[in-house]
Amino acid sequence: MSKPTVAIVGRPNVGKSTIFNRIVGGRTAIVEDRPGVTRDRLYGHGEWLNHEFHVIDTGGIEISDEPLLGQMRAQAEIAVDESDVILFIVDGRTGMTDADEAVAQILRRSKKPVVLGVNKLDNYAQRDQMYEFYALGLGDPQGISGAHGLGIGDLLDKVVGKFPEHMREEENEGAIRFALIGRPNVGKSSLVNAILGKERVIVSDIAGTTRDAIDTPFSRDGQDYVIVDTAGIRRRGRVYEKTEKYSVLRAQHAIEDADVVMVLIDGEEGIIEQDKKIAGYAHDAGRAMIIVVNKWDAVDKDEKTMDKFRKKIRDEFQFLSYAPIVFLSALTGKRIPQLLPVIQQVAENHSLRIQTSVLNDCIMDTVAMTPPPSDKGKRLKIYYATQVAVRPPVFVLFVNEPELLHFSYVRHLENRLRETFGFVGTPIRILSRKRN
Ligand code: GDP
Ligand code: GDP
Repeated sequence: MSKPTVAIVGRPNVGKSTIFNRIVGGRTAIVEDRPGVTRDRLYGHGEWLNHEFHVIDTGGIEISDEPLLGQMRAQAEIAVDESDVILFIVDGRTGMTDADEAVAQILRRSKKPVVLGVNKLDNYAQRDQMYEFYALGLGDPQGISGAHGLGIGDLLDKVVGKFPEHMREEENEGAIRFALIGRPNVGKSSLVNAILGKERVIVSDIAGTTRDAIDTPFSRDGQDYVIVDTAGIRRRGRVYEKTEKYSVLRAQHAIEDADVVMVLIDGEEGIIEQDKKIAGYAHDAGRAMIIVVNKWDAVDKDEKTMDKFRKKIRDEFQFLSYAPIVFLSALTGKRIPQLLPVIQQVAENHSLRIQTSVLNDCIMDTVAMTPPPSDKGKRLKIYYATQVAVRPPVFVLFVNEPELLHFSYVRHLENRLRETFGFVGTPIRILSRKRN
């Protein structure tokens, strides 16, 4: 699951988002409408010549009150920290600037592979404007026009040519990959340490300069696990660390590489808008989910406090009704031993496959008990159902008229499937097809 990451950096207005959109292309995610969730186009997926990768537009992460040069430095550092290959975009029309040189310096020092794109070369006559950029010391520039889509293929050839040879070569297939997400200071690092206990010595930041060195493998009771993205959790003291966009970006990244996502909430401070946003990403990505309320030691409580908090979570995260909630303290270690079994359970449900005959019994029973409502004199007929995918489980219903399958009935079927088969901790999807 761990794919290479490409970060786009460059001054404002050089064309980063234009190029980002070209690379990410028409692959828009299917997301449900959930109020309060705005989609920042900072993070996407690219595909080129059988390579799949993550793409980040660092230009969207602004650090308030920083002057341009400071912004550029922070964005270049993010690119270095977060990516395997950096795509540095400059503007061929305005020529080289001080900010370009400052960025180039950071990139050269980082020793990360860099591809230099000189943008806005919209026609052949403008190609000469490319050559001054050799002075940046980053190798051959590639002339492109983001607006007209020129040179983008050659640019991507260079990018994928610089991907690390072996991403996760020794990865254990049976390992459960999980990620901890949540805003800064919610206790992610503390929880990683609490889970690892004395095994934490194996977490090393020195190991290699490639980003894939940041996954932390460990075993417990015969089960292998990988904590995804521990370096992202550990990285400290950067100016950008506390910006919301950066922490959302981090979360998206971790979600993409994990099977199980733990959304951490601060028990002391309660639920904030950002918590919902990142939980929403994990839900949309179809990951197994656990809601973890941390710092429970610091909460003034009586016998009703936990139930009240649980109710509040259910109200605020209605789309996560399937996710178990664990109250714990990374600091005191309370209920930490219960966490791995929950992770194991939701991971199992995430890859659960239901036998077709058993599935159809359940669906037909449901239909017999509660037939689909009729719509303008027509009634939905479900002929049969089959599970087409796991992680998460996806079911397809073959029906007479897909338009007759309404959201409320899908909900009803989902509830029945959950009652029958469990599926605690995993989203499930129900699709319909017209039977020919
Ligand atoms: P960003 O701030 O680096 O993300 O830059 P944008 O992608 O928002 O582009 C800034 C401006 O440059 C927009 O007005 C774009 O339409 C324009 N632009 C982007 N790529 C090209 C290009 O290849 N040629 C020309 N002429 N304009 C471009
Ligand atoms: P991160 O930014 O999400 O990685 O958060 P940290 O793990 O660095 O924790 C932020 C702060 O919260 C630190 O001062 C921790 O000591 C504190 N903290 C973490 N977990 C707990 C907890 O369970 N209880 C209490 N009282 N404090 C905690």
